[in-house]
Amino acid sequence: MRLRKIKGADEAVAASPYCVQSPEVLKGKWYTAFSGEKPLHIEIGMGKGQFILTLAKKNPNINYIGIERYESVLVRAVRKMEQEPLNNLKFICMDAMLLPDIFAPGETDRIYLNFSDPWPKERHAKRRLTSSVFLERYRQILAPAGQIEFKTDNRSLFDFSLQEIPEAGWKIDACTMDLHHDASMNSGNIMTEYEEKFSSKGNPIYKLIASR
Ligand code: SAM
Repeated sequence: MRLRKIKGADEAVAASPYCVQSPEVLKGKWYTAFSGEKPLHIEIGMGKGQFILTLAKKNPNINYIGIERYESVLVRAVRKMEQEPLNNLKFICMDAMLLPDIFAPGETDRIYLNFSDPWPKERHAKRRLTSSVFLERYRQILAPAGQIEFKTDNRSLFDFSLQEIPEAGWKIDACTMDLHHDASMNSGNIMTEYEEKFSSKGNPIYKLIASR
């Protein structure tokens, strides 16, 4: 993602009641950050937040955490939350490499990865959010029956993921090469900002669901 530095973004994220400032303190007790103990679903690389804000509004019985590395991006989601606050959604500004520092083993029930950065150069493959490096972190924090849902319009990243995920010991539970024309997998689909942009250009959207 091309990053435009937004003036005041760092301060806005640091001061926002919707952003958890010391997430490691909540490790093993994330339910205390919400109004009750419910399943915990997270989105990694949430961008400007359209997907997770819509999902959280639709599902009040699930607690959600959106994770984004850059304040300049996250601040857009913070502004949307200010317009319409949701008590089952929190944001964290951090690198997903640190996931096991902030979630106890098995504490999360579902992980969403949407239009993750493709990192096309082979020497950067470990930075892809579906690389074995990240899959090992997801294994640590996901409940045994938990699933990863991944969608992208990038064929190379999807092909890489279809190979990497089983090699890391995960099962592919479902897969489509054209989400928007797959009635069963598209049922209840919530579009992300990138999904709207790339599907409007005619790009097919690929999706897979994986579990241990
Ligand atoms: N998910 C959004 C969508 O579909 O519209 C945004 C997609 S954008 C291409 C990928 C986002 O993932 C960027 O905002 C980027 O900063 C974030 N990201 C990439 N690697 C990350 C990491 N290791 N930890 C947290 N966020 C990350």
